[in-house]
Amino acid sequence: MEMTGITLGRIRASIAHAMKSPFYRERFAGIPAEAVQSRGDFEKLPFTAKEDLRDAYPLGLLAVDDERVVRLHSSSGTTGMPVIIPYTQKDVNDWSRMFRRCYETAGITAKDRLHITPGYGLWTAGIGFQLGAELLGAMAIPMGPGNTDKQIKMMEDLGSTVLCATASYALLLAEEIERRRLRGRLCLKKGVIGSERWGEKMRGRIAAELGVELYDIYGLTEVYGPGIGISCSCRAGMHLWTDYLYCEIIDPRTGEVLPPGEGGELVITTLEKEGAPLIRYRTRDLTRELPGPCACGLPYPRIDAITGRSDDMVKVKGAMIYPGRVDELLALIPDVSSEYQVYIERRDNRDVLNLFFETPLAAGEGRAALEKTVEAVFKAEIGLTPRAKALGIMELPRSEKKSIRIFDKR
Ligand code: ZN
Repeated sequence: MEMTGITLGRIRASIAHAMKSPFYRERFAGIPAEAVQSRGDFEKLPFTAKEDLRDAYPLGLLAVDDERVVRLHSSSGTTGMPVIIPYTQKDVNDWSRMFRRCYETAGITAKDRLHITPGYGLWTAGIGFQLGAELLGAMAIPMGPGNTDKQIKMMEDLGSTVLCATASYALLLAEEIERRRLRGRLCLKKGVIGSERWGEKMRGRIAAELGVELYDIYGLTEVYGPGIGISCSCRAGMHLWTDYLYCEIIDPRTGEVLPPGEGGELVITTLEKEGAPLIRYRTRDLTRELPGPCACGLPYPRIDAITGRSDDMVKVKGAMIYPGRVDELLALIPDVSSEYQVYIERRDNRDVLNLFFETPLAAGEGRAALEKTVEAVFKAEIGLTPRAKALGIMELPRSEKKSIRIFDKR
């Protein structure tokens, strides 16, 4: 994205500050921050990867004295060591301001009642939604995840107007509210949905079943948490708060910085972070920068919806498979619902892609023909024929956190 002279100066200051941490002192040994005089110099700096942060466990990223740290968070690592991120009071305040800006962008005001279902604790999600709500002056209802009966009762009794949730949990709640025919008794108007990538079909179902406007919130624990960007009422990508962050899109294979508009991996450099500054951090989220200003008038650049993670991409018989692509293909086919799972296995020395999807069609009511259609669409679009299997709605597992959709069993 655009790098002005002012941004370059702020980047240099952030590099100088980062080098107070044991991790960056070693990583940038022999590269003084003053040596970064141009965009070209900056783009030669090494990336920071999630594995680097794991290796820095527990506090190798800490760039301030202990007594200035007011809080720790940890990213939900699926394997191995967690990543610990220390925050100063300024970091917490900056995060709250960014989150408040997200709510304001979604048209949420002090009059709203925010039903917050993401988890609280070491994970950044719930507490970030809470901080922003309090700074805005809205009523935060800190539910946390789980206990769907209680969620729905509180939503009704307290008149929650905004649902904050992962896409998976929003879908689970929407399906349950629809099943119990309770929508008319709820006051929900908006949903702020984050923490995982989701497709248009899933969005459409949640919006229709809850009768709400949906906003995609973006973020990751390593860089504050959720709230560093959000979609606006134009529903054209997500604005990123680039007064706090410098963003690049790179080719995940070569590390080369891509021109505006090309799809790749989002890389973030923090400009204001004190506790654990990050320089060229690879988010692993795949997206692209959207060109031009947004019709909403916000001066912040936008990225497209996240299409997947660079480490979720799997290669099957030469075709690249990732959740965003599967979503796009299934979206082309009528009678295919939003939920699916892909199992890749090795059988008789050949890779086999099994694709389970949900459909509202009853068993025997054209499901076999639908499976053939799905197989043909995949063959035509990516040159790979899956073994498609239609299931009824609710037959695939639902999740209160994030749904895993691609399982590589090879
Ligand atoms: Zn906008």
